[in-house]
Amino acid sequence: MRWILTCFLSWRALAAPGTAAETARAIRENVFDRDECYRVRDLTVIRHDIRVYLTDGYLIFSKPVAGRRTAAAFTTEVEGGDGEVIVMPPNRAERRSLASYIDAPTLDEHFRNALFLSAADLYAEVMAQMNSNPANRKVPEMGPVLDEAWSPVLRNLSASYETRLVLDAVDAAGSGSGLFAGLFTGLKLGNFDVVYDPRAAERISVGQVANRDNRTYFDVWTSFEPRSQPRRTAPLFGTEAALSDYRIEATVEPDLNMTAITRVKITPVGDGLRVLPLDIARAVRVQSATVDGRPAEVFQRDALRANLGRGGNEMFLVLPPEPLRAGRTYEFEFHHSGNVIHDAGDRVYYVTARGNWYPANGLQYASFDLKFRYPRDLDLVSAGEVVEDATEGEWRSTRRRTSVPIRVAGFNLGSYHHVHAARGPYVVEVYANRSLEKALQPKPRETVVLPAPPFPRPRRNNVETVPLPQQEPPPSPAGRMQALATEIGSALEFMAGKFGPPALPFLTVSPIPGAFGQGFPGMIYLSTLSYLRPNTAATPKLDQRQELFFTEILEAHETAHQWWGNLVNADGYHDYWMMEALANYSALLYLEKHKGARSVEQVLEQYRDDLLAKSEAGQTVDSSGPIVLGPRLESSLEPRAWRAITYGKGSWILHMLRRRMGDERFLSMLAELRRRYERKEISTEQFRLLAAGFLPPKSDDPKLEAFFEQWVYGTGMPSLKLTWSLKGKLPALRVVGTVTQSELGEDAGVLAPVEIQLARGKSVVQWVRTSSDPATFTVPVRQAPLKVSLDPHCGVLRRP
Ligand SMILES: [Zn+2]
Repeated sequence: MRWILTCFLSWRALAAPGTAAETARAIRENVFDRDECYRVRDLTVIRHDIRVYLTDGYLIFSKPVAGRRTAAAFTTEVEGGDGEVIVMPPNRAERRSLASYIDAPTLDEHFRNALFLSAADLYAEVMAQMNSNPANRKVPEMGPVLDEAWSPVLRNLSASYETRLVLDAVDAAGSGSGLFAGLFTGLKLGNFDVVYDPRAAERISVGQVANRDNRTYFDVWTSFEPRSQPRRTAPLFGTEAALSDYRIEATVEPDLNMTAITRVKITPVGDGLRVLPLDIARAVRVQSATVDGRPAEVFQRDALRANLGRGGNEMFLVLPPEPLRAGRTYEFEFHHSGNVIHDAGDRVYYVTARGNWYPANGLQYASFDLKFRYPRDLDLVSAGEVVEDATEGEWRSTRRRTSVPIRVAGFNLGSYHHVHAARGPYVVEVYANRSLEKALQPKPRETVVLPAPPFPRPRRNNVETVPLPQQEPPPSPAGRMQALATEIGSALEFMAGKFGPPALPFLTVSPIPGAFGQGFPGMIYLSTLSYLRPNTAATPKLDQRQELFFTEILEAHETAHQWWGNLVNADGYHDYWMMEALANYSALLYLEKHKGARSVEQVLEQYRDDLLAKSEAGQTVDSSGPIVLGPRLESSLEPRAWRAITYGKGSWILHMLRRRMGDERFLSMLAELRRRYERKEISTEQFRLLAAGFLPPKSDDPKLEAFFEQWVYGTGMPSLKLTWSLKGKLPALRVVGTVTQSELGEDAGVLAPVEIQLARGKSVVQWVRTSSDPATFTVPVRQAPLKVSLDPHCGVLRRP
């Protein structure tokens, strides 16, 4: 009875206006309770695959927040003190990942200290075990010591998790099954985090903050779904509701501050939704929200701290005036403002929040009606077709509408020149800055520090970077504008011919200071360096590789994202590599069309060399981990790994599939991929099955299982050697050969093509399955071959 009463009271308290803000304050200001300090032995805290043993030490609880003591600290700093945390990843890939960081496939670490945050009542959980050991007792004399040592740490950690904890506190479904975070100081491993989050795509994760070369990384040691709990108890982040029909009115003030009203239709997935988590750029404050015209509470924390598990966004919460019903559509209105545009000098602007300047719930397809009001001496571009454009006094306003649903709407502004090119049914508009950003101007030499990309990295939205060349250029950014329009138009037409129509028929291309590009639906941001005419006295000296990247690959790569990443999407972060690999390989197909096959092979050889580059410890970049680790590859272990593997090895994977299939089948596969997965997500396994369907009949490895095991789920690059001789006499004449493999593991092998060149330009390709033993082959021939060569056209990724 009392339990029911308590729940009722806390529910009432939570339902009051301003609830989230009050809860947040209580969480932020929470401290340890000096009267709740214990000497404990043999207590266990279990969250699915996470086991924490409080073997011998002191334990102190926090004061209650909304009736629950949700934090505790444990220290082993007593004679014989001990604590231990064990996490066993459920599969080989995750055990390997863990081992690459801690040299062991299982986390089993004794620790000195631990701090726990939990949405459940930790106190009740632990107290239930307290009587099991007579040595457990209250030690009030230790209370002040532990409180003083641990309350600042608690405040720090609570601030990091503030919005997440408020979400659990306000969302009734979260209580008892919400977030659990343990921050440990291990005896060998230093500080590390172990987290169970029922709203994360992979609910259990273990990782560590690490610094390398003045950069901070969050190394994800392992991340997986619990074995013991196949069913999810809370909705996944970004799937709480369906969002559609965006109508945004935004004003860019002369000081570049943006204020906006976003109206959007929201349909909850689950019933009784009391709190809706949404994303927005950290620089944007949401001032107010209404649901069907009635005020709703908005909670957005003040601190500009890293936000865990929410991509490049800050999570904020909306608490509607009453719980929302599943399947009913509500009209939400948000008022927000922020500084999402930076001045890079000389009227060159840098939009920092390109994909998250308005509220969203994950990436969902929606129609957009965008009205921008801005100073009349500026130009502002966004996705969609212009439906209104007017100037009044000092202001200009432009309204654009997208003709089909898109997942993300970007905008850009500047003082632009512009040209356009029509290619069949497609229109490409290219905008260029009238002047060059300060960072690229010759003198005075100045470095513009670009704002850091949103954490962890905005690559779900297709961003690529290369190191910025440090040169001294004074060129005109409009120099290649017309050429760019023609090239992008031609790339768009080329790809539309291969993959079907793009995301939108209108493509706007505009510049972004820095050394990267980003491909949104109907809108491409292109590095200013791509606008500069290469190889003139006036332009920055790019090395051959940078030149190829900025003037050939980047623009085609971003164009290709109209299909890969905007029309077809990745299922999860493990699958995102396909979007980058497909975009990059589409750019290479386009490069091949106008520069020839050899230029593509040269790019692939460069990618191979990047994969073979060695770390200080003598490890190759490739060995950092399989491509399916996705953004986790960008770690302190090897900062080069994400790019080299995602783009480089990703391109190789597609190229190898093409060599196995032949050009015609490969291109049919890409067209089918678009057809079958248009406005859908594809997983790596779905891609394997799709690709296997395009192998020639009677292929070795007909389901591509060995291929994916080696190249997608595995690492390593073989060294291969061919020896051969001509045996027998006609009609039994034959080429007999051996391919010897080294540098791969015992059980590993690859399929390698041996090309036998015959007279009159004819050739036969024999695929040979290699292994740790020499692989022999016999090919009957009717004449002596002119040449027998191992893999002359990048059919297999191997050491030179
Ligand atoms: Zn990309």
